[in-house]
Amino acid sequence: MTSYVVRLSLFILVLTLPACSHSQQTSNSSAVMKEEITDENLPKNENEWRAVLTPDQYKILREKGTERPGTGEFLFHKEKGIYTCGGCGLELFTSDMKFDSHCGWPSFDKEIEGGKIKKIADYSYGMIRTEIVCSRCGGHLGHIFDDGPTETGMRYCVNSLSLGFKKAE
Ligand SMILES: [Zn+2]
Repeated sequence: MTSYVVRLSLFILVLTLPACSHSQQTSNSSAVMKEEITDENLPKNENEWRAVLTPDQYKILREKGTERPGTGEFLFHKEKGIYTCGGCGLELFTSDMKFDSHCGWPSFDKEIEGGKIKKIADYSYGMIRTEIVCSRCGGHLGHIFDDGPTETGMRYCVNSLSLGFKKAE
């Protein structure tokens, strides 16, 4: 009788295992796949933004925070593709515009055309700087400086947490 119960429970275990691992996979992939944000479903208030961003992203994009230098995911990122707004997915930079600035944050020497980045005077912390934000969602990206080493002379200094990345096909 005991061995029958053991065999029966083993049988049930074998039956349920594949089902478990399958549901695991499904929930994982749906968590990774972020719903594409368009003009129509753009979050309308800070509560909605909190629901779609991680707490770290929220701090940078919505509260104009700055990630610690040297820590960002995209600092040494070399893959070919397009850098997007971490908030709404708007395409902002290509990998060809990225350069090593040694300043501790991902840096770009120009932006994708079409006015996708807005520049705003920023007098915080006793400095005169130019803040850069996404023109669609208003998300804080970083700052722009005119000390770039390439022919554009510009350095878009951007938080990794403000960015997403679409790998080139
Ligand atoms: Zn955006």
